[in-house]
Amino acid sequence: KPVLAIVGRPNVGKSTIFNRIVGERISIVEDIPGVTRDRIYSSADWLTHEFNIIDTGGIDIGDEPFLEQIRQQAEIAIDEADVIVFLVNGREGVTSADEEVAKILYKAKKPVVLAVNKIDNPEMRQQIYDFYSLGFGEPFPISGSHGLGLGDLLDEAAKSFPKHDELKYDDDVIKFSLIGRPNVGKSSLVNAILGEDRVIVSDLAGTTRDAIDSQLAYNGNKYVIIDTAGMRKKGKVYETTEKYSVLRALRAIERSDVVLVVIDGEEGIIEQDMKIAGYAHDAGRAIVVVVNKWDAVEKDEKTMKLFEKNIRDHFKFLDYAPIVFLSALTKKRIHTLIPMINTASENHARRVETSVLNDVIMDAVAMNPTPTDKGRRLRIYYATQVAVKPPTFVIFVNEPELMHFSYERFLENRIRDAFGFEGTPIKIFARER
Ligand code: GDP
Repeated sequence: KPVLAIVGRPNVGKSTIFNRIVGERISIVEDIPGVTRDRIYSSADWLTHEFNIIDTGGIDIGDEPFLEQIRQQAEIAIDEADVIVFLVNGREGVTSADEEVAKILYKAKKPVVLAVNKIDNPEMRQQIYDFYSLGFGEPFPISGSHGLGLGDLLDEAAKSFPKHDELKYDDDVIKFSLIGRPNVGKSSLVNAILGEDRVIVSDLAGTTRDAIDSQLAYNGNKYVIIDTAGMRKKGKVYETTEKYSVLRALRAIERSDVVLVVIDGEEGIIEQDMKIAGYAHDAGRAIVVVVNKWDAVEKDEKTMKLFEKNIRDHFKFLDYAPIVFLSALTKKRIHTLIPMINTASENHARRVETSVLNDVIMDAVAMNPTPTDKGRRLRIYYATQVAVKPPTFVIFVNEPELMHFSYERFLENRIRDAFGFEGTPIKIFARER
């Protein structure tokens, strides 16, 4: 999908515009500890266009001076986006900070659309003319707080969306990515996988933009490692900022079937690990937890069990994900990774038979009576699998409100016991028949 980024100095209304364009799409998942949604990246659509949108203002750069922060945010936009919306404040006229942003954007070979915010009524329209001086052509008047002018702005931005954004891979290709904080060893792991005996690596045809993926074949299966370049590319200051790495991770997760959540075995689990894993879970991707640098951990026969328990305690929502302890450095257990990716990917795409599914559900109901509320009891009529990637089940009932979270969880566990589904989240929805 094309990527649109919003840039501009602070207080011009970037987050307001972002939220307007995104609408209600971002769900806050409260039952996952440690996962708070950063509203900096989301999918969105306008008419027939689907795209992703970045609020670069949400990427805080740390204690850098003001102008340096603006500069780095603009550079992120230039690196990541296909189209940049340069946002200014119509009530304040052109400021020197706007001019600084403009200077950086001139150098970018990316299309820029200039939007003048806070034009809340037609009388204010003449205030946009000042902004021609920024040199980005016609300024588009908009009002984030009133939701005005966004259609015209997005029409203009959509003209610059690339026609062929990403290489499409065949359905039998397993797409996976490695996600984790800087320095957990993602690029070392990629190299270890690519350097393995039976792996055949081929270059990807396509544009430079596509060439960030690596294709490989192993035991007759085909794989793509998503965003290899993003893992290898290093050195820019902002790349060490947490939100920037989260942004990269989100983009890779979106294009993957299977996500390898990489944890540094030496450092243990930190908050950001959970956040990143939470995104992959919410996105419904298959997940394998990889504990890297296991060679560097001082251990006895209990260490692995303890570490595993620690992971299970922290990542309660990932109870379906297998965990592998390995070392990119010594290559120990690297060969177990691809078979785990295979299993997770198969389960992610699996369909179960409706009759068997209903037997499982009915047995579950017989074992543990459905919940009641104010004298009304939940009745389950039948269940059906409506989607794969991840497996998604609809359970038809008398009153969906009676489906309590804990009962849904119980049904999920029964389905898992019956069918496996190791490595993949599954989704269950109650619908009124
Ligand atoms: P990335 O930022 O996640 O891609 O991390 P890198 O692959 O660049 O690795 C960061 C550092 O950890 C480098 O100094 C690596 O040599 C080191 N490293 C990576 N994997 C291992 C491992 O399995 N064991 C040890 N001891 N060090 C590792």
